[in-house]
Amino acid sequence: MFQDNRGKRIIFLAHCVCNQNSISDGTATFSGTNETVLRLLLDAKIGIVQLPCPEMNCLGLDRGDKEGANRPLLEENSRIRNALIQTDAKRILELLVQQASFQIKEYIHYGFEIIGIIGINRSPSCGINTTSKDNAEVEGKGVFFEMLAEELSRCGFNIPILGIKDSEPEQTKESIIRLLNE
Ligand code: SF4
Repeated sequence: MFQDNRGKRIIFLAHCVCNQNSISDGTATFSGTNETVLRLLLDAKIGIVQLPCPEMNCLGLDRGDKEGANRPLLEENSRIRNALIQTDAKRILELLVQQASFQIKEYIHYGFEIIGIIGINRSPSCGINTTSKDNAEVEGKGVFFEMLAEELSRCGFNIPILGIKDSEPEQTKESIIRLLNE
């Protein structure tokens, strides 16, 4: 099966790498996409899967508070984190994790290579190395990626998960090049 032109190499990206319009009010860095990341991936000729934006799906575009952008960033991020761990939001997150992990399982089952999953550091949902909690940027994963990483580990998958920051283009570029060459 699948002996056509597809390269069978795939990367999963946090939603806002491809669509900055999903980001919480006041925090978008780019007008449309993180072009540095996308150019590297396009040049590598790999398939790109855009993960859902957990905050948008659980809390809406305004994250449940139209005044959110008026708060200091880490304070607002921490408020969002607390909203994501409430029962209703958690239920939606579980569905999103199931959908993402189903796709990953299917690709792995048919012998495709999952090159990695890219999240966004400091995000209360998609952070990998750092997240926002108690009004500070702290080590650890965001709520969505914590759940996704647990599910993948439960399935026995060892997929590289990389955290990037829109405000750190050089480090981002280097870490993605490293990931692509692993
Ligand atoms: S970091 Fe995650 S939750 Fe925040 S905008 Fe990007 S995809 Fe959505």
